[in-house]
Amino acid sequence: MANDSACDRFNPWGVIPSEWKKLCKETLGLPAFRGDQIATALYQGFAEDWVNVSTLPNQLRSQLQELMPITPLREVAVSSSDDASTKLLLECPSDGEKIETVLIPSKQRLTQCVSSQVGCNFHCAFCASGQLGKTRNLTAGEIVGQVMAACRHLRASGEQTLQRPGNIVVMGMGEPFDNYDQVITALKVLNDQKGLSIGARHITISTCGVVPGIERLSGEGLQFELSVSLHAPDNLLRDQLMPVNRAWPLEKLIPACKAYTEKTGRIITFEYTLIKKLNDRPHHAERLISLLRQLPCKVNLIPLSPVEEFSGKRPDAEDCHNFLDRLLQAKIPTTMRYSKGRDVNAACGQLRLKSIKN
Ligand code: SAH
Repeated sequence: MANDSACDRFNPWGVIPSEWKKLCKETLGLPAFRGDQIATALYQGFAEDWVNVSTLPNQLRSQLQELMPITPLREVAVSSSDDASTKLLLECPSDGEKIETVLIPSKQRLTQCVSSQVGCNFHCAFCASGQLGKTRNLTAGEIVGQVMAACRHLRASGEQTLQRPGNIVVMGMGEPFDNYDQVITALKVLNDQKGLSIGARHITISTCGVVPGIERLSGEGLQFELSVSLHAPDNLLRDQLMPVNRAWPLEKLIPACKAYTEKTGRIITFEYTLIKKLNDRPHHAERLISLLRQLPCKVNLIPLSPVEEFSGKRPDAEDCHNFLDRLLQAKIPTTMRYSKGRDVNAACGQLRLKSIKN
């Protein structure tokens, strides 16, 4: 099927729960209430095989098995880090492509970082996902499938209390706005009360700055959170680090972000990866402050996770803290996120790149 169709109709996890009713009536010739039973079996019962769904008549089970079998992603590698984050390498059943997802526990809830594409076409200098380019988009069913795989992993590891992640961030491999329809469909499934019921404010889409995606999202009336990966306060440096800046430079990106905040009444989080001497100097902080002044936003600083393919280094702790302090003094709400799981190749795309190279 086409990768950019609005609904992944051949994978049950790609169907928005409310659409099951329609699908039952119009395509399967069944009463609408079967739609709710199907959604319950998938997302509360975690069914992985229609044959075992005892709430459905046998004939329907075989019909569903024929039309749209449940196709779980296969867990091919698991790596755990010292800080308790876990990275799963998953295999897509349709073509054997490998994708990554990371589980990051915190005091309040478990955050899952999901991938939106196999590889990435945006080639940010410091990011392992973009090294080999994009192989293909993930379908909505494969994006939801990563969360289902995490649920299965939690159950298998005896996690009684945490059955599912409470936060989703689309910050794994890929650029979500380069696969807009499938990503939004997947997030609707995760958010739906009859889906995985994860609150919209606990779901974050992160973009490298694809302006048409930001504009489109601002018109959807959805409550998902938006993060924009900035990483540099001027075009000269951003061009170097993020080729996307040549298509949508700061004079296009920042006004699009401002328009988003005005239209939605929401704030934007800017991600800024700190790289030693390259973008962590006091004058970079000052430029960042003037760029973001007048914009309802937060800044999230992430010290670089060094990757083999990029010569940049992780900055000194003191420089990170000075950068943070300057932003805070300028009254820009700023946090520092130490990228978890560094010891298990948790930077974007590292595990997949390693599995391909080995
Ligand atoms: N394409 C999207 C989402 C994927 S990357 C985006 O660019 O936002 C998620 C975040 O991790 C981005 O902010 C990205 O720039 C950052 N990132 C990628 N590689 C990194 C590394 N080696 N160290 C620190 N942050 C990194």
